[in-house]
Amino acid sequence: MKITHDMHTHTTWSHGKNSIEEMVQQGRKIGLKAITISDHGRSHPFFGVRKKNFAKMRAEIDALNKKYDDIEIYLSVESNIIGANGDIDIGEEERIYCDWILAGYHYGYIPATIEDIFRFSIPNYAARVLPFLRKYVIEMNTRSYIKMIERREIKLITHPGDKMPIDIDAVAKAAAENGVILEINPRHDHLSAEEIKIAMKYEVDFAVNSDAHNIHALGDMRAVPEMLEKANIPLDRIINIEA
Ligand SMILES: [Zn+2]
Ligand SMILES: [Zn+2]
Repeated sequence: MKITHDMHTHTTWSHGKNSIEEMVQQGRKIGLKAITISDHGRSHPFFGVRKKNFAKMRAEIDALNKKYDDIEIYLSVESNIIGANGDIDIGEEERIYCDWILAGYHYGYIPATIEDIFRFSIPNYAARVLPFLRKYVIEMNTRSYIKMIERREIKLITHPGDKMPIDIDAVAKAAAENGVILEINPRHDHLSAEEIKIAMKYEVDFAVNSDAHNIHALGDMRAVPEMLEKANIPLDRIINIEA
């Protein structure tokens, strides 16, 4: 079982260890048909890609697509979910350069509004140590994910529910209705096998991505094949692997 299109990878444009071209060369070496470069969104104060760099990344990728005819290279961004309304940290200035947008939840982002600091960010941090907050946080996060999905601005959710607990049943239903892919990510605990089982009740697509931050991790599925077996998911539900 191997990944054919690694749709979630990082480079030196954010905090990855290798350049776009090094990742592409490695991708060709391991037989990828396609690779998506998806560095972090701008609200990360330390390693988010600055707006002005998207044009440079686009030019680099266009040149590489001309140079190599055995691999397709796409530009995306792993934007951050930054508020209770499902806002993400990507604007038209970046969107025009990207082939598509991914979104996921990370620590260390700048919240969308002042209000989001109190209603979204602090409760999500606090729920990790205060179990009574968990129900409130799950309801809020699920609403946030669904609002984001219904805007139809994103192609795929990276590591759904990681660091930000959600009701996977409701999220998978919304993702199916709006054509948003759910990621299975070997570097994160979510989706788990249990969550995949719940999500696969709906006609939602899944993708397995390495989330590589260097060439050695590219295409690496780690323990995902065992997890897929445990979830008993038909492999044709996963759009970017071959058996
Ligand atoms: Zn991520
Ligand atoms: Zn990532």
